[in-house]
Amino acid sequence: MAWDFTTEPEYEAKLEWARAFVREEIWPLETIVGELDQQQLDRIYAPLQAEVKRQGLWAAHLDPELGGQGFGQLKLGLLHEVLGTTPFAPNAFGCQAPDSGNSEILALAGTAEQKDRYLHPLLAGDLKSAFSMTEPDSAGSDPTTLKTRAVRDGDDYVITGRKWFTSNGSIADFLIVMAVTDPEARPHQRATMFIVDTDTPGLQILRDVPTMEHPQEEFGKLGGHAEVVYDDVRIPASQRLGEEGAGFLIAQQRLYPGRIHHCMRWLGQARRAFDMLCERATYREAHGKVLGEHQTVQNWIADSAAQMQAARLMTLHAAWVMDTQGVAAARQPISLIKFFGAEALHDVVDRALQIHGSLGYSTDLPLEAMYRFARGARFYDGPDEVHRQSVARQVLRGYAPPPDLVPSEHVPTRRAAARRKFAEVLEAVTAND
Ligand SMILES: Cc1cc2nc3c(=O)[nH]c(=O)nc-3n(C[C@H](O)[C@H](O)[C@H](O)COP(=O)(O)OP(=O)(O)OC[C@H]3O[C@@H](n4cnc5c(N)ncnc54)[C@H](O)[C@@H]3O)c2cc1C
Repeated sequence: MAWDFTTEPEYEAKLEWARAFVREEIWPLETIVGELDQQQLDRIYAPLQAEVKRQGLWAAHLDPELGGQGFGQLKLGLLHEVLGTTPFAPNAFGCQAPDSGNSEILALAGTAEQKDRYLHPLLAGDLKSAFSMTEPDSAGSDPTTLKTRAVRDGDDYVITGRKWFTSNGSIADFLIVMAVTDPEARPHQRATMFIVDTDTPGLQILRDVPTMEHPQEEFGKLGGHAEVVYDDVRIPASQRLGEEGAGFLIAQQRLYPGRIHHCMRWLGQARRAFDMLCERATYREAHGKVLGEHQTVQNWIADSAAQMQAARLMTLHAAWVMDTQGVAAARQPISLIKFFGAEALHDVVDRALQIHGSLGYSTDLPLEAMYRFARGARFYDGPDEVHRQSVARQVLRGYAPPPDLVPSEHVPTRRAAARRKFAEVLEAVTAND
């Protein structure tokens, strides 16, 4: 029997260190981040990043030969649960999205020259990057509809199109762009990835789109979502990542583990909201007793604990499948956790906000910000509906119509069959009557 829910003691000690470090050194940043510009933020992060490197937890998503820790998805997932408690922790640990996913793409598909020029400085924290796929004018949930074109012209490619929600695009040194190279090819072989330096002529970072998460327009800061115009952006063919038409294949390698990391970070965030929910339940009195003695609140606590536990076990299981059986086998478990985890986060934050009433709605607590953040989780990296559809399709492959289209469990049909099966006994009983 190999079912084992324990964490080895050496790794648990590292997680314990990370929990204390994130809480003491990074949570305080949340309250003053609005007063800091990107340079000040970089100055604050530098010693924190050095400490994480000393602890051997830097860029844990990559293999050791690339300067990472080679943890695998399960250990990585447990670390992301700690980092997810605040949006500002991943940057201190060298696994800030989209840099982490981009480094995986470069490690997977980059040439030796691309790795030297982009991957190694990215891992060292000397360069910043962004991933530029979603477009305002095509459905991000179906990237086979992408419109941005990259046309081969001699030794160059010329890229034309418009992207948005290119996270961190306004502070990036380079973008990894997904563009259509062959519109006539089969849908999943039409697009190719390219590395584009942000100072390439024709590339314009128009704005950071104000969002539910960041409603005030603020340009050029960690966590912004850039709108980018590619106006005849000419790049040498050596900037192509992988083969022409391999864009989707490479994107898949990046997105699957990325979803596990998202789900574990959401659990870290949900746990923090849950702690606030429970704390409030212990002292706020209404209608003659503390809120924790009202049954509705008890239901919220129990339902939240159950949802978080279910999401955690499902996510760690998906990570284990990925580690032991590879990406293809993990497809369904990952789709399951993507929508289940997003809903768990949303529901727990919603209940925590509700129990705090006006205080929860106010910016005196982080819950309203968590709530706004949680809403996006239901559609980025694939909307809930698409993941549900994907799960249902895979599940349905294991089913076929019943013979004569009579449901397999149809009781009268089964009863008739059972009568035939036990005819001898039934006849004996009748004879004894
Ligand atoms: C915080 C955040 C960060 C992001 N970062 C990046 C980034 O770094 N790089 C990047 O390229 N993009 C990024 N995105 C964009 C994100 O990936 C897209 O928003 C997402 O893929 C959905 O695409 P869309 O917005 O075009 O919505 P659409 O594709 O237009 O979908 C809209 C809605 O249609 C419905 N729908 C779609 N398909 C189906 C279906 N099959 N069945 C039923 N309903 C369906 C769903 O309700 C869906 O929410 C980010 C988005 C957010 C919110």
